[in-house]
Amino acid sequence: MSIQAVAAAPAAGSPADAATRDAATLDASMLDRTVRLLADLVAFPSESARSNLPIVAYIEAYLAREGISARRIPNADGTKASLLATIGPADQPGIALSAHTDVVPVAGQDWMSDPWTLTERDGRLYGRGSSDMKGFLAVVLAYVPLFRQAATHTPIHLCFSYDEELGCLGAPDLVGEVAALPVPPALCIVGEPTALKVARAHKGKFARRLTLTGRGGHSALVNRAANAVEAAAEITVGLGVLGRSLRTETNDAFDPPWTSVHVGSLHGGSALNLVPDRAVMEFEARTLLGTDLDALNARIALIIDEARARLVAQAPEAGIAVTTLSDYPGLDTPEGSPATRLVAALAGDNAAPVTLAFGTEAGLYARAGIPTLVCGPGDIGRAHKADEWIGRDELGAAGTMMTRLAGHLGRPFASIFA
Ligand SMILES: [Zn+2]
Repeated sequence: MSIQAVAAAPAAGSPADAATRDAATLDASMLDRTVRLLADLVAFPSESARSNLPIVAYIEAYLAREGISARRIPNADGTKASLLATIGPADQPGIALSAHTDVVPVAGQDWMSDPWTLTERDGRLYGRGSSDMKGFLAVVLAYVPLFRQAATHTPIHLCFSYDEELGCLGAPDLVGEVAALPVPPALCIVGEPTALKVARAHKGKFARRLTLTGRGGHSALVNRAANAVEAAAEITVGLGVLGRSLRTETNDAFDPPWTSVHVGSLHGGSALNLVPDRAVMEFEARTLLGTDLDALNARIALIIDEARARLVAQAPEAGIAVTTLSDYPGLDTPEGSPATRLVAALAGDNAAPVTLAFGTEAGLYARAGIPTLVCGPGDIGRAHKADEWIGRDELGAAGTMMTRLAGHLGRPFASIFA
């Protein structure tokens, strides 16, 4: 439903019409508030490589003006932080709203307007992070005053992370704190852009970089050298064979329906007549829920160990260093679960819940025992690109979702499912 459609609802005489009109007026003013907040949020160039403390301070100050105190959960060197705040009774089961504050870089992208200045053209609001996912963040913040009024029995937990775009690196600490709350949330909504469709599942993922060190030399004397590129190639072939062997285990909810293994880059060597002493490669696995991760990791370790052993046999100083780039679990919230049905009702989504091709922080919340769905405004297809945008109508629809949510907070969570 677009906000224009809401505002244009007929203003006839019955009390129901008046209620509709009041809700429409509320939503329209809230939309303006949301867009102003989004403009402020977009103006922070919170690329994952930078500190997110400026945008965190902005959100803290905003919440403080609304009488809400937030807790920072900093990273190891204090350059970044997640925020956790509770609105309403902390001793009751409530609902977590999850967003990340970081965005992907703009370098090398050809934008029509400044990516850090929210710019409206034809009802589309352009700016880095507008869809992914400062749009949802702005909607949630806009509705904080309403949540504050409404949350007499069911609290709202605001859970804002950093480094999501680097592979959900910031969320584990935050999720740990959320799970350790006096009463952990009974539901979590991760507002990644799904066009407000309810998404109940996605694969897990881990990604690693291998830095191979061999021994350089003249190509005429390969017997005195250790070829790092050949070792990387052997690992690449081994991972390919492993990946194909995993396709027997399938889950048709996903495309592709199996756990995939993928080598994304392999760099090494400078000249034909030199044995390369160094190679760097990166690979990832996208895992179905239920995949035996220990067994998969053991098979990968074996492939790497065999290549390392061959290198070391040639040159004792050789080695392979493994760096984890990202690691997050999958999500598989049951289709008919009360949590799924509640979020569908909030979003006004009557279709069957979908599965996502991309990963989110939702798997971390689910693994902590919190029923979790992904549902937010905007389109992942516009994310990470030049001229990322979100529609005013999409923010309006997300606002309607927040109004419905607020409507439940005056009673205990257990009765919301009833
Ligand atoms: Zn995102």
